[in-house]
Amino acid sequence: MNLTIIGSGYVGLTTGTCFAEMGHHVICVDNNTEKIRTLQSGAIPIYEPKLEELVKKNVAVGRLEFSPSIAASIAESEVIFIAVPTPPNTDGSVDLTYIEKVAREIAQALQPEMGYKVIVDKSTVPVKTGEKVSQTIKHYAGPNVQFDIVSNPEFLREGCAVDDLLHPDRIVIGANSEQAMNVIKRVYQPIHAPILETDVNSAELIKHAANSFLALKISYINAVAKVCEKTGADVELVAEGIGMDKRISRHFLNAGLGYGGSCFPKDVKAFINISRTLGIPFTLLEEVEHINDTQHIHFLDRIRDRLWVLKDKKIAVWGLAFKQNTDDVRESIALKLCEKLCGEGAIVTATDPKAMHTAAPILNPMGVKLVEDMYECARDAEVLVIATEWSEYANADLQKLAGVMRNRIIFDGRNILSPANLRAVGFEYHSVGRPSVE
Ligand code: NAD
Repeated sequence: MNLTIIGSGYVGLTTGTCFAEMGHHVICVDNNTEKIRTLQSGAIPIYEPKLEELVKKNVAVGRLEFSPSIAASIAESEVIFIAVPTPPNTDGSVDLTYIEKVAREIAQALQPEMGYKVIVDKSTVPVKTGEKVSQTIKHYAGPNVQFDIVSNPEFLREGCAVDDLLHPDRIVIGANSEQAMNVIKRVYQPIHAPILETDVNSAELIKHAANSFLALKISYINAVAKVCEKTGADVELVAEGIGMDKRISRHFLNAGLGYGGSCFPKDVKAFINISRTLGIPFTLLEEVEHINDTQHIHFLDRIRDRLWVLKDKKIAVWGLAFKQNTDDVRESIALKLCEKLCGEGAIVTATDPKAMHTAAPILNPMGVKLVEDMYECARDAEVLVIATEWSEYANADLQKLAGVMRNRIIFDGRNILSPANLRAVGFEYHSVGRPSVE
């Protein structure tokens, strides 16, 4: 099938590449001409495992192309996917200006002689956005253009997006016409995964409800972690005990610094806002957000309790990406921690295996020193803070680390190190919801 993807970011580029890998012919469009030039030159603008080799392979066989122009791309495409940003407004509502602009541009490029098109929203949008997109296209394209709107929310996780796209838990297709449903089912035909067929409104709602529920699990275990800290219980054992119940499951019960990234914070905010607008305040989610917003502040309080004063203390931070295996630092808790540490006058050095280039524009103005090597980053530090769960840090050479630090003190915000191993090397070790090693 001929497909166009509008928006070639984390979602659009990986989705388009995986569609090409499935055998479709795909044009990935972006209005960032620099990004398109980079892609056309054979480079990949983001770090995502397995993506580069798949892009190269599919470009080489002619199944994947890049273009700066919506108009030039959609004429031959049976399906047009929208994967542009849907960031939060200051009141928590979703900024839909990117979606509206793309809807207008598609409408202006559509001609009746191009035949029937399916326009699919892959961006995360509030329920009933499909109706608005449909109205907008009808308004600008005129009555003779044939199209349907479909909601096909994306559930990929950055860091394992390619595997998630090729082997998803489920595919949700929200369509109000059988013809459109059948077209999108053909797109996904090469993938072996359960398909949930819904109406457009339900599909849109599924995405916000799913992300909010995952965020709720994280905040829940973080609240439990605080109880553990006060009582000497171990949150890892508690999570295991809870998670062995199949109705709950162990997934997403990892205590830590809380959730960040470009999705959970904004999607929880959006769902709170959508519910409030509908006159049914979702106060449970307000608490989920509050727990998350205060989680790293509580962690910082514990660091300050230990060091007394942070001013002029050298603190090393391992991890800047919002999670492992990505260079994405949007809403990263690690950056919030760096900002607060700098704000109190600490001398902060930081490192990350992949996210130094994305974090630098934010951290350089704060005075954070970025150091490539993780051990050099920790040299002479009074405290090492682990802020992202990279496997490099979980497998750190503790003897080597002990040799470079000024004090052997670690605050592990992601619970990736073993207290027993740290005790053996003589470290003082504090983590989240687990007894400290002192
Ligand atoms: P992104 O910022 O990485 O990419 C969006 C791309 O759209 C950018 O390259 C931007 O230049 C381009 N763009 C903006 N306006 C455009 C226009 N008018 N024409 C052409 N291109 C345009 O964002 P993302 O992380 O890929 O997220 C996209 C959507 O997918 C959001 O709604 C997000 O909530 C959702 N989503 C994201 C993830 C994730 O893990 N990142 C997962 C599931 C869903």
